[in-house]
Amino acid sequence: MTTLTVPSTTPAATAPVSPGRQALDSALFRLGQAADRLDLDDSLRAMLATPRRSLAVSVPVRREDGRMDVVQGFRVQHNTTRGPAKGGIRFHPRTDVHEVTALAMGMTWKCALAGIPYGGAKGGVSVDPASLSARELERVTRRYVNEVLPIIGPERDVPAPDVGTDERTVAWIMDTYSVNAGYPVPGVTIGGPVTPGRAPDRAGATSRGVRIATLRALDGSPEGRTVAIQGFGKVGAPAARYLADAGCLVVAVSDRTGAVIDRSGLDVDDLRAWSEETGGVRGYRRADALSWEELLELDVDVLVPAAMEGAITEENATRIRAGLVVEGASSPTTPGADRVLADAGVTVVPDILANAGGVIVSYLEWLQHMQARSWSAREVDARLRGIVEDAFDTTATVAAEHGITLRQAAHLIGVGRVAEAHRARGLHS
Ligand code: NAD
Repeated sequence: MTTLTVPSTTPAATAPVSPGRQALDSALFRLGQAADRLDLDDSLRAMLATPRRSLAVSVPVRREDGRMDVVQGFRVQHNTTRGPAKGGIRFHPRTDVHEVTALAMGMTWKCALAGIPYGGAKGGVSVDPASLSARELERVTRRYVNEVLPIIGPERDVPAPDVGTDERTVAWIMDTYSVNAGYPVPGVTIGGPVTPGRAPDRAGATSRGVRIATLRALDGSPEGRTVAIQGFGKVGAPAARYLADAGCLVVAVSDRTGAVIDRSGLDVDDLRAWSEETGGVRGYRRADALSWEELLELDVDVLVPAAMEGAITEENATRIRAGLVVEGASSPTTPGADRVLADAGVTVVPDILANAGGVIVSYLEWLQHMQARSWSAREVDARLRGIVEDAFDTTATVAAEHGITLRQAAHLIGVGRVAEAHRARGLHS
């Protein structure tokens, strides 16, 4: 059996490994730091470093011209000691098993930090959704679901959207699972189209969590604070709207097509309409263009990386001028960059705290199902705010007590809670 080892030193930023392997090395490094502080024994470290289940599948895709391509798919359940696994499915050409494992591990700590009874999972298919027709995309999704069917389900592992997937993908997943089961199983997914019993705005929940965490970090004074956002997708675009609603000035936004800036504040709704019409922010006429790197290095109060892993590196971290970084994306900052930012006095609200809103609202949705009751959007929002603020305050307290960063504190709490659950349950062997 292969056991992943926890490295005790920062992974070299220049190591010639895939981005997915770098993401996993970063995740293992952060686990290792927390394990050292918690003084965990070797066997517990090995259990926390190793996914509970990891399934690799091949997904044949029949193309419109009759050709057959085969892409790889994965579903990794990192840990289920505190509850059923939960985590999104990503469609991206770069996705590999290492990346999916790193993301699944992050989900485990995120759920534990938020105090919700779930474990961590993630799925991925190494395909570029933009290169597929709608019918090809549907075929890939349904075939992938058929392949991972034995390990997903409402009581075991519940997928949601992530990069490259959306409500439509989730609807196909739910339908494929239900057809196989022989009856409707809406609880197999989260984040699908709004139907009775579904949270009305699950789609914006991650971004609402980003706003709550940002406001907490700004001591509740967002008025006039300037914000730059990297990524204008399911997390970045609603986050821009919510932060503008809170009184911030969203001055710059980027996506894979380009980056735009208006120092007096972008009209977020107008930019979103442009982006939906043209396929991206590039060419938006009511703002100036800038480069992707320039956006990261802007002199703003808040930088929200909400695109992909590894955006802030040891190299470009030295040029970051924002005083506060709020991680909407999963693992956008490398461990080397963490050190540079900490030395420069930049506060980083880590992903497992800042982008937990989605999984928290998923949990609230599940609670409503279980209790056969329905909360208003206002009640759901109040509960979301309570959970994120509690997690933020606990993390800030632990960081201050130990003299460590918010990320180190968040991992200390998350890893500690999962380790505690392992000790309480014992080992079934
Ligand atoms: P998405 O595919 O909807 O959006 C990604 C955005 O990033 C797009 O606007 C894309 O154009 C942009 N982008 C890609 N490469 C870029 C680059 N080099 N520079 C600038 N922009 C770039 O994905 P999403 O669901 O918004 O997820 C974004 C991140 O947030 C991921 O790391 C994901 O794991 C994380 N996350 C998502 C959710 C969720 O509920 N969707 C929850 C938690 C964490």
